[in-house]
Amino acid sequence: MSAPDPDRSATLFCRVSSAKQAQNYSRDAQERLGREYAARLGLTVTRVFTVVESASKQAARQKWGEYMLYMRRGPEKHALIATVDRAMRNFGDLPEIAELQKKYGKTVHFFLEGLVLDGAHASMSNLRLGISTAVAVYYAGELAEKTRRGIDQKALKGEWPNKAPFGYKNDSSTKRLVLDPEKAHWVKRIKELSAESRHSIDSIVEQLRGEGCALYGQRLHRNLVERTIRNPLSTGRYDWPVGSGNWVQGVHPPIVSWELHERAIAGLERKNRPRQRKHHFTMAGMIRCGCCPEGRAVVFELRKNRFIYAHCTGYQYSKASGVRRRLCPDAVFVPVAVLDEQVAAALERVQISEDAARTIAALLIKDAGTSQGMAEAQAAILRSRLTKLDERSAAAYADKLDGKITEAFWSEQQKRWGDERVRLEEALRRQEEAGPSSYMPNAKKVLKLAKDIVRIYKSSDVAEKRRILNLVYTNWQLVGKKLEYQIKTPFAELAEGRLTGNWLRD
Ligand SMILES: [Zn+2]
Repeated sequence: MSAPDPDRSATLFCRVSSAKQAQNYSRDAQERLGREYAARLGLTVTRVFTVVESASKQAARQKWGEYMLYMRRGPEKHALIATVDRAMRNFGDLPEIAELQKKYGKTVHFFLEGLVLDGAHASMSNLRLGISTAVAVYYAGELAEKTRRGIDQKALKGEWPNKAPFGYKNDSSTKRLVLDPEKAHWVKRIKELSAESRHSIDSIVEQLRGEGCALYGQRLHRNLVERTIRNPLSTGRYDWPVGSGNWVQGVHPPIVSWELHERAIAGLERKNRPRQRKHHFTMAGMIRCGCCPEGRAVVFELRKNRFIYAHCTGYQYSKASGVRRRLCPDAVFVPVAVLDEQVAAALERVQISEDAARTIAALLIKDAGTSQGMAEAQAAILRSRLTKLDERSAAAYADKLDGKITEAFWSEQQKRWGDERVRLEEALRRQEEAGPSSYMPNAKKVLKLAKDIVRIYKSSDVAEKRRILNLVYTNWQLVGKKLEYQIKTPFAELAEGRLTGNWLRD
């Protein structure tokens, strides 16, 4: 037999979630579906790569790297990958995949989702790939929108949705906060000591130990004391999202008065220099200086405990050779409010209108039509196998009744077919889960984010704001007072569509 034509040959990439599955049917199912897909397109699978997800992250990434390297250099023109989602928890893979197509002329098939990157319809495919990736990255974690909405609702009703802080317990039956009878009074004591304005955190810890607080099993860390002083929850109120200043009256019992809480914080700030006070600057570590060729990090600094400034780390003067000299030629101190305004403008740039979201959804549905047909054909294969299995089983049963086969042979066959049935049903289920019909709800999530991004960002806490910024933008640079950035896929495409109003252009 001659070597397969490289133009018609393909690699198959399987990703399974545990070593057990690797030896089991899941990989078989992916591999079989991949091979069937290849057969339908007249492709020959020449190599199969398998990554086990439960292997260390590093090992899995290394495997992926090897695969990418092979795809770039190997003769196969087609890459078959089951789905976008798990393959791309890390955004870094997206440009790599796009590059396989653009730079190396390969065709990438996400065969369960019916997404093909082949240069034709490039912009639509890239948009779909980008959307799938954004979903994989953004909605994979605890931020699944449904969960989040649930948490928000709970919090705004006054039910603290997170782990109980010192002094409280989570009541597992009511899902509400209750007092921790052994610790609640220490919360009051901590606030009282701090309100006296005589103590540093260290001396509060010391004092509490003297009063027997450490006996309660929890080592009193300075951290815990500071958090307890600052946390308003023990007054019965909290702000949601935390840090937003949007106050909610909790349904949990208060431990101290608001007035004591305020005095405690004032005392803390009087007696403790702001030193390592933890501030969560939204853009900390995200921006580089665009003024110095080294592209130094832009850091945030709290001045007079109130005003936050961003500046290049090269802003300081160097005393080298006795000459005071600024390392970064054009660096300036930029008030964080100036950055915030520009971030707001950046968010508005990617926000799409209701109409645009609808138009894009319609285009995606139309585009998914062909792949839907493909996925349906694949599902039909699986269903016809199941039918055949039933027929065979019925025929064998008749044979058994007629005495043509033995009881032992019959039961052995039954078991084999039973296993086969489980495998096929599993494959069918996966197919239905991963197929294009599951793609649209995901795409709509991303469109919804793009449609409401300004509002969603505003109502988010620092951690989530950072997630949104990292999802949508990259390469933040501060040039003088101006923030520059790039918009990532698929938000760039969505934004362009909004600007040009031309979604049909390819
Ligand atoms: Zn600089």
